[in-house]
Order: sequence, then C-alpha cells, then structure tokens
Amino acid sequence: MEETQMRSSPNGSKARRLAAVLFLPLAMILSPLPALADPSPPVSEVVPDRQPSTAQDGVALIRIIVPDQASVDRLNDMGVDLAEYKKSSDEGIEVHAVLSPQEAQDLRDQGFDLRGVISDQSDFAANQAERSRALASADAAEAATDTLTVLRSEWFTSLDGRRFLSVEVKSSATDSQTVLTATWDSGPGTAPDSGGTATMSRFTDAGQYMYHRFNSPLAVTEAPTKVTVTSNRGGSVTVNVNKWLGEPRKAPSRHYISDFVDHYMDPTELTERIVALAKEFPKYAEIIDLPNKTNGYRRAAQGQFGTVAASTFYVSSKTFGSEGGNDISVALVNPNAASSPLSVAVTGKDIVVTLATDAAGALSSTAKQVVDAVNANAAASALVSANTYRTNTGAGLVAAAPATRLTDNLKAPASVKREPFQTKALRIGKTRDGSKVGVFLYCQEHAREWVTPLTCLETAERLLRNYSRDHREVVDDLDIFILPTANPDGAHYSMYDFNMQRRNMTNHCPATTGDPAARNSWGVDLNRNFSVGSIFDGYSGASTSCTSDTFAGPAELSEPEARNEVWLTQQFPNIKFAMNTHSYGGYFMWPPGAYKSAGRELLPRVDFGTENYFWEASSHILSAVQAHRSTAIWPGRTGPVPDVLYSAAGNSADEHWFNRGIIGWDFEVGADLYDPATGRFQAVGFQPPFSEGHEEAMEFANGQIAILEVARAFSQDRRRPDSKLRITGGTGTSTSFTFLTNEPANVYYTLDGSRPTLNSPKLTAAGMREGAGQITVNQTVEVRFFAVDIAGNVENNYQPDGNGNNYNDKRVKVGSS
Ligand SMILES: [Zn+2]
Repeated sequence: MEETQMRSSPNGSKARRLAAVLFLPLAMILSPLPALADPSPPVSEVVPDRQPSTAQDGVALIRIIVPDQASVDRLNDMGVDLAEYKKSSDEGIEVHAVLSPQEAQDLRDQGFDLRGVISDQSDFAANQAERSRALASADAAEAATDTLTVLRSEWFTSLDGRRFLSVEVKSSATDSQTVLTATWDSGPGTAPDSGGTATMSRFTDAGQYMYHRFNSPLAVTEAPTKVTVTSNRGGSVTVNVNKWLGEPRKAPSRHYISDFVDHYMDPTELTERIVALAKEFPKYAEIIDLPNKTNGYRRAAQGQFGTVAASTFYVSSKTFGSEGGNDISVALVNPNAASSPLSVAVTGKDIVVTLATDAAGALSSTAKQVVDAVNANAAASALVSANTYRTNTGAGLVAAAPATRLTDNLKAPASVKREPFQTKALRIGKTRDGSKVGVFLYCQEHAREWVTPLTCLETAERLLRNYSRDHREVVDDLDIFILPTANPDGAHYSMYDFNMQRRNMTNHCPATTGDPAARNSWGVDLNRNFSVGSIFDGYSGASTSCTSDTFAGPAELSEPEARNEVWLTQQFPNIKFAMNTHSYGGYFMWPPGAYKSAGRELLPRVDFGTENYFWEASSHILSAVQAHRSTAIWPGRTGPVPDVLYSAAGNSADEHWFNRGIIGWDFEVGADLYDPATGRFQAVGFQPPFSEGHEEAMEFANGQIAILEVARAFSQDRRRPDSKLRITGGTGTSTSFTFLTNEPANVYYTLDGSRPTLNSPKLTAAGMREGAGQITVNQTVEVRFFAVDIAGNVENNYQPDGNGNNYNDKRVKVGSS
C-alpha cells in the first residue's frame, strides 16, 4: 500500500501511523488521499519488516536496540508501544515494539536501531566482546586493580535437562572499559577452566552501571561447582555456583486433574466459566460482582467524508453504535441548481446535507461550513457531532456522496454484549468471612496478553476440582480472589477487532484525535492508571497522550477497571498477597516498580528482610513453574521491576504494596524458548500458537498455586526468627560486623546502649542484589538487636514497644579496648 506522510504532530509517530491508515476502507471513502501530505517529499513505499498472520495495518513486533534506559524512556514518551520485555546486550538494551511499517520507518529516520522481528534474533556478544577487549587493552595496564563483588552465581536446568549458567558480578571500576571474564569447571574435582570461558556483558540502566552478566544464560554441559571471574583491571574472585530452582515439590496425587483450557477464551466465556464453577462448588466458591461497570464493548458510530485533509470531515454519533448510532445515515446531496444554499434536513435517523452551489452551479460548501451547518441543526446535532479533520481548518470543498450508514465497526459476535461489562471475581475458600489470609490473583490487565486469563482460570479449576485430595489446605486456610480478566472490553476488542489492543475501550481523546482511523489508538493502559508512583507524580514509563499505548488516563484511578481492583482490596482487607499476571518474557517481579528518570530515583525499595523473603518465595514459586515442562525463569528476570525490566509509573502492584501493604508481585508468563539448533533463546510474543500458550498457562497456574502455598505458610508461621552478630573485619581503629538470621527477617539494632525498637536502624543490603551490609564502628560499642520475620514474629518474643530487655546484646570491640 502506498502510504502518505503528514506533518509531525504532538503525538509523534503514533499520529503519523494514524495518518497512514486514515484512508482505509470506511464505507464512504472514495480514494487515497495523495494531497494530504505537506510539501515534504513523498515517502517511498515502506516494506513491512514482517507481516504476521495477525497483522493489522502491517503491525509487527520488532526488536530495537537502544543505548540506555533514557532511550527506552524516550520511546515510551513518544508513545511507542513497547512489549513488557527488556534484555541487556553489550550494545545497550533490547526492547520489542509493536510497530506499523510507517512507525518503523519513522524510528529508523530518527536514528533508532531496528533489528528485524523477534524471530530473527542475533547474538552480538562475540563481536562486542572483541571490541570491548580492544578498547580496554589500551587503558587496562595503568588502571588500578578493581574489586569484584559476586551478586549471583547459579546454574539451573531448563528444557529437557539442559543446563545453563548465570552469573552477576559488580566491579568497583564502573567505566565502560572494564572487561570481566568468567571461567568455570565442569563438576566436582575437575580443572577450574574445564567447563569453559566467556566474556561478561556490562549492564547499564538510566546511564548508571549496574553490574556485569551474560546477555542470556550460557548453555553448559555439566553443572559447575565454582566460577572464577577476572577483570582486565586486575580484580579476581572465585565463588561457588549454586543451584537455581529445582526445589523438591510434593508430588500431586495420582488422581490430580489439570488442563482445563483448550482454546483462547474471550471475557464473556471466561466469566461464564467462573459463574458455572461457583454454581458447581457453592460450598467453596462464590462470585463477587465488582461495583464499577466498564465502558462496555461499544463506541460511537462514525462516518468520514472526503479525499484530502482540507475537504475531509467526519461525524460521530452521540449514542453508542449499538444504541442507535449504527442506524444513522448521512448523505451529501448536489442540488443540481445554481446559487443554492447549504442546508441540513433530518428525517428519522437520516441526515441529508444539501450542499451549496455557486452561480455556475458548482458545489461550493467547504468542510468547515458543512461541519458548522450539521452542528447548528438541532435535529442533526441531537444525533451526531461533526468535525473537520483533526486540526485542519477544513477550507476544501466537499463533494457529494450517497447516503451512508455510520458504523461502530465492531466485529464481535452477538454473544459479546454491547453494554457495560459486569466484571466478576471468583472467591474460593472454605471460610470466606474475612478471617483467613487473602490472596488476589488477577490477570489480563492488558488485553492482548491472551494467555494470562487462561492461567487464572486454570488455577481456579484446579483448586476446586482437586479440593478433596490435593488443594484442601490452601482452600481451607486461605481466602482466594481470582479475577481472570481485569480488562474485559479491551480483551474483547483484542480478540475480535485489533489483536494488538493493550488498553481498555474508554475514549479520552478530544475530537481532534477522535476520527475513525484513530480507533485502534484509544483507551487507557490500566497498569498505568493507579495512584502510586504515577506519571502525575512525576514517575517514568507512562504517557499523557491519549493515543499512546501507555496512556495513563486523564487522572489516577480514572478507569472503572482500576477502581475495581482497589475496591476489592479495600472491601477485603484480609488480602495480604496479590499477583498481577502479564505476558511475555518469563519474569517474576516485585515492588518497587517505578522511578523518576532524573537520577533514577526509585520508589522506596523493600527492606532487606522483605527482599530476602521475596527471593526465598521466588525459589518456591519458580520451582513450581519449572515442574511443568522444565522452564526455568532466569535469575536475571527475577527481582524488583526496575532492576530487571523498566519503570512502569502507576502500576497496580505498587498500588497494592505502598497503599495497603499487600505483597504485590508480577508475573510475565511466556519465557523465552531455547532453540538447541541455534543455541539461542527466542521470545514467544503475546499470542503464540495455542499449543505454546497452553503450556504457558499450565506452568504459570503451577506458579499461582505455589503463591497460595507461600501465602498459607505465611498464615501459619508462628516460628520466631533468630539472629546473631558476626564480626566481618577490623583494623586497629575500626571493626566491621553484620547480622545473620536463620530465616528472612529484618534486624533492628542500636549502638548507643538504648533499647532497640521498630524505629531503630535496620540492617540493609550492601547494594542492589547484594547480601547484608556491614556496620563499621571506630570505638567499642554495645550492640543491642532483635529480628522480626515477614509474618511479624519477633525474636525471643521481645516486645519492642514494651519494657523488657530480652533483646540480643553483644559487645563489639575496637582495637584492644
Ligand atoms: Zn501486560
């Protein structure tokens, strides 16, 4: 298709895409619009990078390499539709964007490095490592020896027993010329270098050096026991390689049944299924109607007239198409008489505009005049509003056109009701009176993530259908809320109209961007509409443009879908855990989820004990995911959202955690698949073939059930933690120490001999993804301390706000004093 380009607009590339598709076949469009473009030279035909089977307007999922997080933020700010996927490479950051051919070309024109579609992955490690070595060799000799800190060092099995190695190391030399090389053995008793050697990649974010790691886990033949990392700056460190995941799991009973989904389901089907489940299991389940009805799968009916921008106008029905808007017609009539005035007549729902003529009998009404005449006519303006094309003044002459019906252009079958959607959650639990710890599992905030609602539904079915043998404990001891589809309108639209729809169907765009061709660009990104760390608070990773795919909405919590989630957590304050399931990439993440770009200022990190608890929980949860078909979620895709993905201003997990203390986690189902033939990992995308989507739903239903096991353990935890002080180093004038705990717990301490309380300093991490920090004193002190675990159990039953002295007490000496 020949595409035209219009002048740049505040909405950037998205708006240009809209221009490119402006003249797609609406009923009354006569021909392409060659004159729409401004005087800039015509753009040659753009060949799409790929036409996926699901292509709409040539939209494809394309890899982009950017140098840093600032560029990711820039793409975000431009309204580029980024997948929830980010991967470091030596060259910077790989992101995936949903782009039309025109958008892709626009980005290339602006210097962005587009690398083809996701199935065309390349590995640049070798090239770049060579380049880095060459760059580094010049300076290495004179640089000071660096210190290396191993953050994580792990091997794991994935995919039919194949083994992989993952190492994260931080160098004290943060510049780009520091090259780290990892060497590992091939099992107990083997030579230290018998496993292999590889150069590590430098991981930076928002301009800051984070650490070195492999771009993807490395395939190894044997499980290594030790890895040695050396730096061209002289640093060297050898550490044990730990096993990641593979925690032994209790085998399900012989009678365990699973696999309840056999096709991608729309929200109407999903809701019918959970209603039927509640009916079938009334003792253990009930339906909760969420109070805020959505916009509904519906929108105004529209029609557009004209062939060039100046003579183009469009009308939008005042009622939704399904409520009569689709019955309205508009005709543009030539009176075939000279010097005839412009007039508008309405009969029922048929609007007839008789165009004016000049003295010679030629049509003489401009688009602006027609728009004004329609809007000024009481009967017509009761039915429709008319607009010139976007910001065009509409000075071009309007041509006659036969009577044409307006249409909302919605294609779902009648089973999908055109009315506000009654969102329903399924509540599962033997005791549903608020006395049990609550867990909120919700899926499909983003419409196009078709696997996610299947995950939630599969979990619900397994819990109820295996209750008697396998899931009695979690159903008996927890209060479980499952919301299979948080964005029903968008999901219906994604399934039947525009598969790449991410947002809901509420149109907040002004008339100037409300034309029919913009219809795929309306809606609010629900996972940016929440009230903590939002774009309205200055956080990064959302947009105020109504046509951006990360549009945060006109205000925090403007959308009924977002308010429904908040309502549920307020209505049921026993909810203590939440899982926000998205796709794709294979991630397990936790708060904080957003930062301000300037200075990479994060929402507060969780404290050290909580972070350790999240890591421990992740081991249990991700081992359960792995149990289905050996998929290992990478250590490098586990952690706080900004450490492993990007900033997402106004997301729901932060809402739950920071506003209500609910442990808010995120899944991205759909881990990269390893191709043994090429030795590369490949991304799976939003809507893989169902055979793959089914596997993802099965393995992450395992993960959701493991979350319930974690929550139940939390609810039953009466064990008090123990802590002890360990001296870690000293000189003649100072001594360093830290604390150890026998389970994830926070340690509160004082150094001045006072009683420690919950307001005393807490042990912190040494740094991001690092172990416990150290405390250094330069005089002998009396250290008083106690530990508290995540469930609130206090060491030795000490009362921090009482008067007792059953805290720990340890004297730390400096020198010989
Ligand atoms: Zn998502």
